[in-house]
Amino acid sequence: MSTAPDAIYRPTFAEIDLDAYARNLAAIRQLLPPGSDVMAVLKADGYGHGAVELARVCEREQVPMLAVALFEEALEIRRGGVALPILTLGALTHDQVKRSLGDNFILGITGPESLRLVHQVATAEGKVIPIHLKLDSGMGRMGLAVDDLDLAAALLGDGRLDLQAIYTHYANASDPSDPFTTFQQQRFDEMRNILMRAGVSAPLHHSANSAATVRRLVAPGDMARVGLSLLGAEPLDAGTTRLEPVLRWATEIVRVKQLAANEAIGYGTTYRTSRPSRIATLPVGYADGYDRLLSNRGEVLIRGRRVPVVGRVSMDLVTVDVTDLPEVASGEPVVLLGRDGIVEISAEEHAEKTGTIPYEVFCRISARVPRVYRGGGAPLRIRSRFACFVSEVP
Ligand SMILES: *Cc1c(COP(=O)(O)O)cnc(C)c1O
Repeated sequence: MSTAPDAIYRPTFAEIDLDAYARNLAAIRQLLPPGSDVMAVLKADGYGHGAVELARVCEREQVPMLAVALFEEALEIRRGGVALPILTLGALTHDQVKRSLGDNFILGITGPESLRLVHQVATAEGKVIPIHLKLDSGMGRMGLAVDDLDLAAALLGDGRLDLQAIYTHYANASDPSDPFTTFQQQRFDEMRNILMRAGVSAPLHHSANSAATVRRLVAPGDMARVGLSLLGAEPLDAGTTRLEPVLRWATEIVRVKQLAANEAIGYGTTYRTSRPSRIATLPVGYADGYDRLLSNRGEVLIRGRRVPVVGRVSMDLVTVDVTDLPEVASGEPVVLLGRDGIVEISAEEHAEKTGTIPYEVFCRISARVPRVYRGGGAPLRIRSRFACFVSEVP
């Protein structure tokens, strides 16, 4: 029996449980001190989960603010009908700053260039632009350095910029044993004191990502900028703070083939059957974000059991050994990532096997994989880059 959402699509899809996202949000809020709340980070299309859909959950749950990396990501969420304030964390162009005016966007100021740019646009347009000012407390990447603080004091003096918050970002909060986070906290405090003495302060501060939030490093009244934990993945290098996985990536067997012992499978003939084998083909490959490093290493779930990937992962296909599951045939549901009963293949497991982090595992699930949304008080919805063809089917 098919579990695929719509027969026009290949039966490979990522199912997003919006109610699980809402439950994770509630669980993270429980960890926060008084006066604090979550700023939901939805960059890179909500780490591949779908920024607009997650933003709608945030709006319903009265999250006060969203954050994205790119200005166009903020526009996309706005086009999706979400009215919440959206902070942009990345670098900005002149046209983006102009386009941001009056649409409840908040511009993250990531360096002296963007500070000058935003101040210049505000002056030219006769507008007050809301900003959050980023300080570089040790990441060495974005944010004002100590030497830039004079410039900040000068440009913030004339009221053209509405400084709503000051923030920083931790480099290694995922490792609780690394004292660098404490060092960054101290440096952030010192830099804010320098600004304060120059007459610059903000009503709000934020520094914690998911890792710092689950470590309860959020100061009372600060916001917590949380992305990964809301998706139910593990933000700590070696932790068990994982909440409920929101995404389940699934497919179906499209054929089962009987092979004799000592037959080769796939490109490079990297696998040979050691016994008479039943090999199932799955309609998913590295073009979908199923990492080629899972060749001969990955596992999938069928009927609640782990089944090994055999041979190379190719662009569109994966082969798995179902010899020990004699009853399975074409049409059998397969879980690539997520839970099947009490068994789970986690994003951390894929990350470990492919030398990366769960963030990248999610981001790499490509646009070729339709996203199916369940929950959120709405009927099932599908988002696919092939959606343009659906209406052409009678
Ligand atoms: C991505 C990002 C976050 C969220 O990080 P998570 O680990 O996913 O919670 C927070 N702050 C900034 C500046 C980011 O770029």
